[in-house]
Amino acid sequence: MNKESETLVLGIDLGGTKILTAVANFRGEMLARDHSITPAAMGQEAVLRSIVESVNRAMDQAGILPTDIDAIGVGAPGPSNPDTGILFTSPNLPGWVNVPLRDIIEKELGRKVFLINDANAAAVGEFYYGAAQGVRDFIYITVSTGIGGGIFIDGKLFTGAIGTAAEIGHITIDDKGPRCNCGNRGCWEALASGTALAREARERISRGAETSIMKYAEDDIEKVTAEVIHRAAEHGDTLARELISQTGYYLGVGMANLINLFNPERIVIGGGLSGMGEMLLGVARRVAGERAYRVAFEVVDFVSAKLGRNSGVLGAAAFALQKISSDQVNK
Ligand SMILES: [Zn+2]
Repeated sequence: MNKESETLVLGIDLGGTKILTAVANFRGEMLARDHSITPAAMGQEAVLRSIVESVNRAMDQAGILPTDIDAIGVGAPGPSNPDTGILFTSPNLPGWVNVPLRDIIEKELGRKVFLINDANAAAVGEFYYGAAQGVRDFIYITVSTGIGGGIFIDGKLFTGAIGTAAEIGHITIDDKGPRCNCGNRGCWEALASGTALAREARERISRGAETSIMKYAEDDIEKVTAEVIHRAAEHGDTLARELISQTGYYLGVGMANLINLFNPERIVIGGGLSGMGEMLLGVARRVAGERAYRVAFEVVDFVSAKLGRNSGVLGAAAFALQKISSDQVNK
């Protein structure tokens, strides 16, 4: 990315619960950042209105006009086609099917818009500004309520035929495993995500397992989350530790598959569960090492994502910047 400093892009990280908007320059420095709630349950119109309002606030904050923005990148939660700008579907935005999101936002804001999957955006962010700078073959994995990712091959984001590649959360790990949100059974995210961890804990607690987890959940089983289980584990709870270790096991099984498939140089791990550190990731690494092809495993380094909550929004901005740069080169 070799742009002049005055080039400004706007990144939008559209999530099921929040909308993050940032004005950034080509170095990934944020001149303004706006955070708001996604009114997902109120439908598409309401969400689109919130996006426009968030963009306006971010521009106000940066003291710029729409005409100062060179391009806008939108990271959306769900499989999308970056070439046509269509968001196929979204597990987090009920009722969104085949939405021409790029064109809608372009019309609303009057600037060039580029659409990308949110986890892919985070991978792009880590590539340009974070933990994967200078690494041409890497896989970004985000582990939170679900599992998402982005795959870089030879310095380029791999998107597949219609843009839905790297839905790594939905590779099958156990064909008879628990039902996944996507309808399949035993997907990676049905076994190794925060949601899976909480589900397992609730099941074990309902069956009468001895544990202090409920103490950290205000004695309300609905409040048993990955975060609560982590807290219990840190206080030495045996069940919590066992369940986190089991999650780490499945995380490692999936990583072994990715290592054998892509021979990455680096695996960048982000998302809420990465905060559990070695308790989770140590197990995952060990299991990946036991299962992956040895020579391939030996070249992988495992690092934590660097951009945290900003990876998606900065990645969306970087994606837009990359697109306008390559458009100029291709002219
Ligand atoms: Zn699935």
